[in-house]
Amino acid sequence: MAAISSSPARGSDSQQASGGGVSPSPASTSLPITPRGLLTPNASLADFIWFRTGGPAEWLLKPHDEADLAQTLAAVPAETPVFPVGVGSNLIVRDGGVPGLTIRLPKAFARVAIEGNLIRAGAAAMGITVASAARDAALSGLEFLRGIPGTIGGAVRMNAGAYGRDMADILVEARVVTRDGRIETWPAAKLAYSYRHSALPVGHVVVEALLRGRPGNRETIAAEMDRIAAEREASQPLRSRTGGSTFKNPPGDKAWALIDAAGCRGLRLGGAQVSEKHTNFLLNTGGATSAQIETLGDIVRDRVAAHSGVTLEWEIQRVGLPSLTRSVQGRGDPAQPSGGGSLARSEGDTP
Ligand SMILES: Cc1cc2nc3c(=O)[nH]c(=O)nc-3n(C[C@H](O)[C@H](O)[C@H](O)COP(=O)(O)OP(=O)(O)OC[C@H]3O[C@@H](n4cnc5c(N)ncnc54)[C@H](O)[C@@H]3O)c2cc1C
Repeated sequence: MAAISSSPARGSDSQQASGGGVSPSPASTSLPITPRGLLTPNASLADFIWFRTGGPAEWLLKPHDEADLAQTLAAVPAETPVFPVGVGSNLIVRDGGVPGLTIRLPKAFARVAIEGNLIRAGAAAMGITVASAARDAALSGLEFLRGIPGTIGGAVRMNAGAYGRDMADILVEARVVTRDGRIETWPAAKLAYSYRHSALPVGHVVVEALLRGRPGNRETIAAEMDRIAAEREASQPLRSRTGGSTFKNPPGDKAWALIDAAGCRGLRLGGAQVSEKHTNFLLNTGGATSAQIETLGDIVRDRVAAHSGVTLEWEIQRVGLPSLTRSVQGRGDPAQPSGGGSLARSEGDTP
């Protein structure tokens, strides 16, 4: 049995872990949770998410299998936030940590199987693994997953995509464990995909995806995947602690170009920096807090709005609770950076 604490949400403009939050003195709710998987209190997320920043999960569950996950979710009260995490390649986890139950699917959920022209992939499988399995089976159409450094679960949730294709083009159906513990098969249409968005409710966990390939030529597929890898290496800060594209491309425009035009290339706040290589990427150059990264993003948004009149929409999901410092000081005023540290332009690197 584990005791889980939760309480009503504090306000936030971004996605909350299951729409809930934890107050400084939570009203405890004890739950009879006895998963067969691994349940860890106060578990570090910064150990594995891409930015390597942010506070811990109040509870982290690695379910043993699908049935274990379903039974556990059924036992967790509706008011407790539930947040599935992949490898955090699209996340800023705030410094106060993630309240409630965070779920990370272990290797048992990473199997990939070919079924004719279909690819059945566990949600913990990485995009590159699935793209490679499709290539080996001479199935094309999944090459774009080579460039997306997240799990299939995250890709289904985010409608991840690149080079003019996204999950909406290849998903046949997803197997989902709902927040209240039902195991369901969702046809792709039910996810109501749009650009980097799905209708999957927060707290529902994707455990498997059935993807559509089409017969192709193995060498041609391999060459396209190599091209994608090389292009990514040349244009993105792949070896840095980052979170992918910070903002969605506004219709008919490019976020990176608007950010560049607003003079934000290389802008720094404490250990956080706007990438010199690709201005729509924020970096943890070492020692950044999540508050610094998020505040720098807010500053970039404000500057772009002032310069071009376009209000950028966050693509990176910001989850969890702000640290006390950030919540007391407020957000996003370039004159008074709330994430701690002072603003600076750095010179150097190539455009
Ligand atoms: C260098 C770099 C390049 C990138 N390039 C691209 C790109 O070209 N195109 C693109 O679309 N994205 C890109 N991204 C962003 C990111 O890789 C994708 O959004 C990816 O799909 C996120 O997967 P993840 O497993 O890391 O999910 P996370 O970041 O861990 O989570 C993202 C969201 O998915 C949810 N989620 C994760 N797993 C599950 C699950 N099993 N069930 C339900 N919900 C789940 C989380 O709750 C969260 O809401 C890039 C990121 C980086 C760092």
